[in-house]
Order: sequence, then structure tokens, then C-alpha cells
Amino acid sequence: MSLKADLVARIAAQGPITVADYMLQALLHPQHGYYTTRDPLGAAGDFTTAPEISQMFGELVGLSLAQSWLDQGAPSPFVLAELGPGRGTLMADILRAVSGVPGFIEAAQIVLVEASPVLQERQRETLKQYDVTWVADIANLPQHPLWLVANEFFDALPVRQFQRAGNGWRERCIGVSEGALTFGLSPVGPQAALDYRLEDTEDGDLVELCNPARAIVARIGAQIATQGGAALIVDYGDWRSQGDTLQALQDHQPVDPLAAPGQADLTTHVDFEALAQAATPAQFARVTPQGVFLERLGITARAQALATKLDGAALNDHIAAHRRLTHPDEMGNLFKVLGLYPANAAPPPGLTP
Ligand code: SAH
Repeated sequence: MSLKADLVARIAAQGPITVADYMLQALLHPQHGYYTTRDPLGAAGDFTTAPEISQMFGELVGLSLAQSWLDQGAPSPFVLAELGPGRGTLMADILRAVSGVPGFIEAAQIVLVEASPVLQERQRETLKQYDVTWVADIANLPQHPLWLVANEFFDALPVRQFQRAGNGWRERCIGVSEGALTFGLSPVGPQAALDYRLEDTEDGDLVELCNPARAIVARIGAQIATQGGAALIVDYGDWRSQGDTLQALQDHQPVDPLAAPGQADLTTHVDFEALAQAATPAQFARVTPQGVFLERLGITARAQALATKLDGAALNDHIAAHRRLTHPDEMGNLFKVLGLYPANAAPPPGLTP
């Protein structure tokens, strides 16, 4: 039975499900989930990401994390963690770039948080020269100072969607009509977690609530505040998100999110304000466009140094990759960096308080 048929049968029997339930099933169903059954990255997959575009992304992220570790007195041991590491490319680029920082790799316990068995296998292969452990849940990170990175992880977490109705909200749900999955709305009710959105919304406006993201960032923030460390969270989104941002990508093209659950990537924009608030008592750095972050860390000088070793098509690809990561019309502005760090410490380089 396909996941779609499975969901249609379940909804017909038990009633509509939330958007969050739908996303969770579509992405992580043990047999049919999008991430559980495939490696979706790269040109032959459905989408590509900054670390897959160029090694420069991971190198500069690595140098920012390592400098932050030095700034906080180079604690040993510490946890170097990544959430949703995909093919392991970002972590491999980080580790290569920081190999010249004395003591860093020796002090690091490398921990990856990954839900997909297929991608975990891929990460094991990419990182085979390092001592790496995996945990399924962030609650199982060792309690040491924590330097953490997450690129395009939070956009994959399930969101609930609510439409304003007077001073209450209707939840957007997924039901079945004539055998097909279709969106609908629940009856109106209060939503305490959305009281603050009564200030900036009107009747009919849609807002998203990502409870798993808040819970994960709360844990990271607590660990960084008490043990030391820093986090770099990179994703597309804005300080406060509004409207329906659920999108599905298949073969690099947008598709109907309900058309083929488990076959297309589903994402939403990240609400950075919600993450920054959840991180308290850790401090957050001003949310910074990816292009600005990478320029401050010296991506242009790094791109020029790499360019001296390239020619022909490889050089053209390299120039295009630099532009793609940084240019405001490409990923430079759409993607943002949220940095977390303890009180009485400096933010990771590339970010400002
Ligand atoms: N960071 C990588 C991959 C991004 S794709 C890159 O930039 O290339 C999203 C990643 O998050 C995948 O590795 C996916 O399997 C993982 N993932 C998605 N939901 C998850 C969850 N709830 N828990 C752990 N990992 C998850």
C-alpha cells in the first residue's frame, strides 16, 4: 500500500489530521517516508544545499565554530554536533578546515543527529576517518560545552498551521474528498501559543507553529547557557513568518504538497523569532543573511585562492557556486544565519550581537 492510500484510509476511518501529522508521515514514515527511504540531495535528487554547492560553505562555518571555541577558552572535551547532516559533506568540510586549529579535533566528540537510516549510512561513509557517534534525539547529546551547526534542518520539521478567526484560530487540517487528500479547517478555538500573533494578524491570515523546533532549540540554548558553546542555525525564513510557506519539491520543481506524500520533499520557512525566543537563557546574535555572514568570514578571498587552481568548466562552476551562495538574488538573502551563544561571550565570528 502506498503512503497516500494509507493516509486516505486512516483519515477516512479516524478523521482529518493536522499539517504537522501529515509532514511527519510524509518525511519520516518508517517504510514510506521521504527521508527514511532515500538520499534526496544533489543534481540527481530533488534539491541541493549550500554544502553540496561548494566546500567553501563548510570551511567558513568550521572556522567560525573553531574561533568561537578558542574565544571561550578551548574547553576539552566538548561536543561538536550537527542536526540533519545529509550526506555528511558539511561536517567533512568543517573538520578539514579546522584540522590546523591545535587541539580542536582531539577535544571534539562528534555527534550527529539523524533520523534517516539511508543518510546515516551515507554520513558513515563520508566521515569514516573520524570517530563519530549518532543519536536519534537531541536529548541524548553528551552534557559538555556544545558547538552545533544545522543547515536546512529546521525547515524539515513538522509545523501546524492556523488561520485567524476573530480572536481565535482554525487549524488547517488534511481530510479526504472523493478519495483525494484535501485541505480543510477545524472549528474555531483559542491557541495560547499564538496570543502574541493577535497583534500583527487580521481575520483570515495564516500563521505557522513549529513546536518540535522550539523544543529542540530550548535544549540547545539551555546546554550552551550552562556549559558554554555556540550554535549556527542556517535556513530559509524570516524573523517572523506569516502565510502558508509549506512547499513540496520533486526533481528540483515545485509540486502540490498533497499529491504524492513520501515522494517529494516538504519544507516550510523557519520562524527565526520563535527559535531565538526558545533559546533563552542563551543569547542570540542578530539574524544575518547568509551572503553577509559568508562575506564577513572571507569567502571572496577563499574563492580567489581556490580559483588559482582551476580552469575551464571547473572554474566557471566555482565562480557560479560563489555567486549562488552569496548573491542577494540567489541564496545570499533568502537564507539566514541565527547564532546562539552564552552570556558574557562573543557571538561566533560572522555575526554581531
Ligand atoms: N544539512 C544537510 C541536509 C539537509 S536535508 C545539507 O545541508 O546538505 C535535512 C536533513 O535533516 C536530512 O539529513 C534529514 O534526514 C534530516 N532530518 C529531517 N527531519 C529530521 C528529524 N526529525 N530528526 C533528525 N533528522 C532529521
